[in-house]
Amino acid sequence: MTKKRVAIIGAGPSGLAQLRAFQSAAEKGAEIPELVCFEKQEEWGGLWNYTWRTGLDVNGEPVHGSMYRYLWSNGPKEGLEFADYSFEEHFGKQIASYPPRAVLFDYIEGRVKKAGVRDLIRFNTVVRWVSYDNDSGMFTVTVHDHEKDYVYSEDFDHVIVASGHFSTPNVPYYEGFETFNGRILHAHDFRDAREFAGKDILVMGSSYSAEDIGSQCWKYGAKSITSCYRSAPMGFDWPDNWEEKPALVKLEGNVAHFKDGTSKKIDAIILCTGYKHHFNFLPDDLRLKTANRLATTDLYKGVAWIYNPKLFYLGMQDQWFTFNMFDAQAWWVRDAIMGRIEIPADKEVMLADVKERQEREEASDDAKYAIHYQADYIKELVAETDYPDFDLDGASAAFVQWKYHKMEDIMGFRNNSYKSVITGTMAPVHHTPWKDALDDSMATYLKT
Ligand SMILES: Cc1cc2nc3c(=O)[nH]c(=O)nc-3n(C[C@H](O)[C@H](O)[C@H](O)COP(=O)(O)OP(=O)(O)OC[C@H]3O[C@@H](n4cnc5c(N)ncnc54)[C@H](O)[C@@H]3O)c2cc1C
Repeated sequence: MTKKRVAIIGAGPSGLAQLRAFQSAAEKGAEIPELVCFEKQEEWGGLWNYTWRTGLDVNGEPVHGSMYRYLWSNGPKEGLEFADYSFEEHFGKQIASYPPRAVLFDYIEGRVKKAGVRDLIRFNTVVRWVSYDNDSGMFTVTVHDHEKDYVYSEDFDHVIVASGHFSTPNVPYYEGFETFNGRILHAHDFRDAREFAGKDILVMGSSYSAEDIGSQCWKYGAKSITSCYRSAPMGFDWPDNWEEKPALVKLEGNVAHFKDGTSKKIDAIILCTGYKHHFNFLPDDLRLKTANRLATTDLYKGVAWIYNPKLFYLGMQDQWFTFNMFDAQAWWVRDAIMGRIEIPADKEVMLADVKERQEREEASDDAKYAIHYQADYIKELVAETDYPDFDLDGASAAFVQWKYHKMEDIMGFRNNSYKSVITGTMAPVHHTPWKDALDDSMATYLKT
């Protein structure tokens, strides 16, 4: 019998988790399918593969990266640690709890280097289109290999979409944007906070991007930060030069007018207005259309496309947990493809699964509830596979503590440390408080 062929779209943390999941089965002696991972960038790591570029990448494709210089993990690393590859295994020692981007990239890369899966990835290769043929039961994946400048198609039994959903910006319009005499950019194009030193900036939005980009600008010397919200303020105890205002109504020249009748002269606007799930390589009948939420629409167990469960999606949920959730999903998808897990034949059963998850998600809008909700989801998947069991209640407790630490001191929460739920070791307190640590290189971070 010929081997099944599986296409994985994207070599970010989710796609790499999928490669590692299959490799771990092979390591234990299982016969695994033939894998081809298509990655549009020159390097793996997804968003963690930092680029200074904005707009178009080296191949003329939309830049994938939304991360910026000086980005440090916005949650404790103890909440995302791989159960099969601890921070201590990678760095040879326990490290502080909020690593900068370069440190996390190194950690992500360490596991897949060890697994030896790089040869399975076709870099600089963007997926242009996926179609499904009912008669043959196969997907056709059409890609553009930018190295050879060559477009070709191959057939696969399964497709796994791991292309991320924090890359295509949601860009609103407000009256006066076109006559504003300053820079207006989306968070996707934000790279270096030093650009805004000495400036009065307006950060639009009230979720992670607004909080973290505003904090970056504050740390690197912005004169003032004004953030504005549509539904609710972030409500932290901000420094004196940070003010929260209700929604922007319009701009008049460089003056921003807000819903409460107040106004403020500003130099630059950063739109932290979110991202779109965007899959321009998928036809309507295969394309996920969902809000950014914990229980995505139309995905059985959060991963299998209900209308054709040979197609899977990884990491499409809103994320409290990240790397370990992608792992749980990847191990589950691997087992579904390898016939170790049965996907219900009845579509109604799968739709009922989604309905139940969404109702449970909607039962509360409390953050602690949401953290435990996602932890329970991971537990459920882990229990059905051989992914190493780990203390998800402990990881949830770290997240709950993190929320508390942020309320206590929004510019100081990264100075805390937590205990690893994988090795049981307490993280050291970092040598420099976050607000004073201007050099975020790996060498400086790892110094003791
Ligand atoms: C600014 C920012 C900060 C964040 N900070 C944190 C943090 O501190 N901690 C944390 O845990 N998480 C953080 N995240 C969440 C982040 O989503 C995950 O950590 C993780 O990167 C998601 O992995 P992924 O593989 O699903 O997607 P991505 O990392 O987006 O990777 C997707 C990959 O697919 C490739 N791709 C896309 N389209 C195609 C195509 N058509 N053909 C071929 N390849 C394609 C891309 O090039 C990319 O390599 C942050 C996200 C953002 C935007």
